[in-house]
Amino acid sequence: MFRTLSLKMAQQTKATFTLNTGAKIPAIGLGTWQSKPNEVRNAVKAALLAGYRHIDTALAYGNENEVGQGIKDSGVPREEIWITTKLDNPWHKRVEEGIDSSLKSLGVDYVDLYLMHWPCSTDPDDLKKHLPDTDFIKTWAELQKLPASGRVKNIGVSNFGITNLEKLFADPSFKITPAVNQIELHPNNPSPKLLQYCKDKGIHVTAYSCLGSTDSPLYKNKTLQELAEKKGKSVQQVLLMWGLQRGTSVIPKSVTASRIQKNFEMDGWELSADEITTLDSLTDRFKVCGDAWLPIKVFFNDDE
Ligand code: NDP
Repeated sequence: MFRTLSLKMAQQTKATFTLNTGAKIPAIGLGTWQSKPNEVRNAVKAALLAGYRHIDTALAYGNENEVGQGIKDSGVPREEIWITTKLDNPWHKRVEEGIDSSLKSLGVDYVDLYLMHWPCSTDPDDLKKHLPDTDFIKTWAELQKLPASGRVKNIGVSNFGITNLEKLFADPSFKITPAVNQIELHPNNPSPKLLQYCKDKGIHVTAYSCLGSTDSPLYKNKTLQELAEKKGKSVQQVLLMWGLQRGTSVIPKSVTASRIQKNFEMDGWELSADEITTLDSLTDRFKVCGDAWLPIKVFFNDDE
């Protein structure tokens, strides 16, 4: 038992999670949301040179081009890198165009994971409106066609709570279970029910805003600070380890080379069961990404 644990402890940076397709997603990736132009290219290169093999981007981030350049700058062969990108809400009726646009911007001929960014088909001519004649179920039907083309190795969803997942599964057009659901997860938004639901359905979960995002309130949390100090680790490393030990992949964003490096120093240690319980017991709650900015509600207190 101890040997197995030690081996696991030693290899978080090389660890992968096996998806329901058999593909292996690297456990730690680099997030790129809100990475400013001229920052993200260097960040991606720094991450790949530090050993990261998983990059998370999205059409909506407007940075796929720079992400692609960072990948090329690194010299790391394409086939060694896991690239996730996402279909933007106003592109739900243009899935083919959406993926082709992402591939062109990234400068690659396939992505490893293509996610429906939100279960919301926004009208491209009026971002405050939902398209009346379509919905995420029809979008998923289009996404299901992509793996056969070779341009997308795996398909998944993001920001799906239990209600929308059930709705998807119940539709006659539903054929392929999402390989991944990418959702907001950190100790102040732990969503144990949704996590368990996805696990039961064979859907791997990737934790976004896993550090609590920009100006994270978690960084000031006393319990977390004390735990990090006791472990001789940074608060961010402890947050990432909590995510990894819950069986989720984590995609911390940073454009700062030293932080990118530090967030990847995850080998040879772990949190004890008691330490995980301490983090599970934090009572403050906050959510970085709600649905108030969308034309429809997508969360129904079913993402808890
Ligand atoms: P994170 O939780 O990753 O936090 C990022 C913030 O933490 C930045 O301000 C960064 O600063 C800072 N930071 C990172 N490492 C350290 C460190 N070691 N010490 C101190 N500060 C640190 O936020 P995100 O919301 O960006 O989430 C991560 C990724 O998840 C996104 O970038 C995106 O790829 C994905 N995402 C997906 C969403 C979806 O709808 N599917 C929604 C939101 C995020 P700095 O960069 O200045 O170093």
